[in-house]
Amino acid sequence: MDNDNGIEGVLREWIANQDDQPESLSQMEQNIREWLYRVGNLLLSLWLLYLMPRYDAPCVVCPHCAGKARYERRREGVLRTMLGQIKYKRAYYLCANCGQGHYPLDEKYCLRPNAMSAEMERLAALVGVQMPFAQASILFSELALTSLSDQSIDKATQSYGQTVEKVEGDLYQQALEQDTEVEPRLLRLYGSVDGGRVQTRAPKGQPQPWRELKIGAWFQARGEPPKKPDGEWAIQAHDITYYSDILPAEQFGNILWATGVERGAEQAQELIILGDGARWIWDLVELHFPQAIQIVDWFHACEYLAPVAKSAFKNSTQQENWVRKVRDKLWHGQLDEVIAACQEQVRPHLKAEDDPAQQAVTYFSNNRQRMDYPTYRKNGYQIGSGTIESAVKQIASQRMKVSGARWNLQSARMVSKARAAFLSGGWDRIAAQRRLFQKCA
Ligand SMILES: [Zn+2]
Repeated sequence: MDNDNGIEGVLREWIANQDDQPESLSQMEQNIREWLYRVGNLLLSLWLLYLMPRYDAPCVVCPHCAGKARYERRREGVLRTMLGQIKYKRAYYLCANCGQGHYPLDEKYCLRPNAMSAEMERLAALVGVQMPFAQASILFSELALTSLSDQSIDKATQSYGQTVEKVEGDLYQQALEQDTEVEPRLLRLYGSVDGGRVQTRAPKGQPQPWRELKIGAWFQARGEPPKKPDGEWAIQAHDITYYSDILPAEQFGNILWATGVERGAEQAQELIILGDGARWIWDLVELHFPQAIQIVDWFHACEYLAPVAKSAFKNSTQQENWVRKVRDKLWHGQLDEVIAACQEQVRPHLKAEDDPAQQAVTYFSNNRQRMDYPTYRKNGYQIGSGTIESAVKQIASQRMKVSGARWNLQSARMVSKARAAFLSGGWDRIAAQRRLFQKCA
């Protein structure tokens, strides 16, 4: 500990110099954190000073045109870091050939004057995907001791969304080039797709349009469905990756495909895709993964029954009995009987959109091939995990629909992408990608 004696002396002196007796541990913690912050700021300034060569070469190669750039002078820059603003000076070179200037030190250490440092941006976006930016700004300032406006957090979060978008673009290119003739990597891979809704801004005086936020997940699962619909659902999804965007179905399909190929969907021995029954989802699955086993999520299918019972019977016991009876038929794959039971409740004088029974008949008829639940259960497939429900809840409801959140289309897209990446557990991976794209690896 000999080497620490110098520091220990400084620390003892610091304690002795505290004016008053502390009131509490909290006060001691606060004082120390503020002091460490100031020490950190000073240390980073000194470090940057140390990194600057004592003698700047009179000429260096221009990074823009490979011409000869001449040393001009030292110029001051300001960095925004987790240790506060740091002023530093570094050599500036100007190229006579192309007329552009550059700072070798900035390039070497990826210093971006006036912009958030990569570390600050990583943490700002991490807070920004959790909550509205105004709250995120308060939380960030409390935890980090350095303040950041809600606009800065918004910007950082969107930058992470843009990185996710770029990664998806790269995955798409890789998927186009991938050799699909390789050995199976996985026995079984699940995918699921759903949509949530987000309200976006419109020019003044026009209605604020709702947009469909499309969300998908790839995952593996352990456990099996219960023996009866009321049994315990012991299925656990793991290795989940989420993706999301507000795009027409066809473009969203490219993300579905690229992320699926990355997860080994092309090589999986069994690829199982769960959906809520919406036509656009099955169209995309047919197009990109024709080999997939398509399953209508059990819970989505069941949701069609209660409204039929409600419109057919006044008495709640009768409603419950009807739902239980028809749900059992559905569980056993007796689709003819399910459809007939709904057909009995049809009120032909109503328009289809006003009659839950007509809607149920159409729904079960269109999706009957995807509701062979006895076979799925026999094969040990999961038929309704809540994985995608939970994704919609965590992305659409918890972050995008919170009160006070009004989105322009682009920011809604980017923030949802960043949040999907966070929920996939890939934050550090996205941070690394971002540094790579910024050539700061
Ligand atoms: Zn040049």
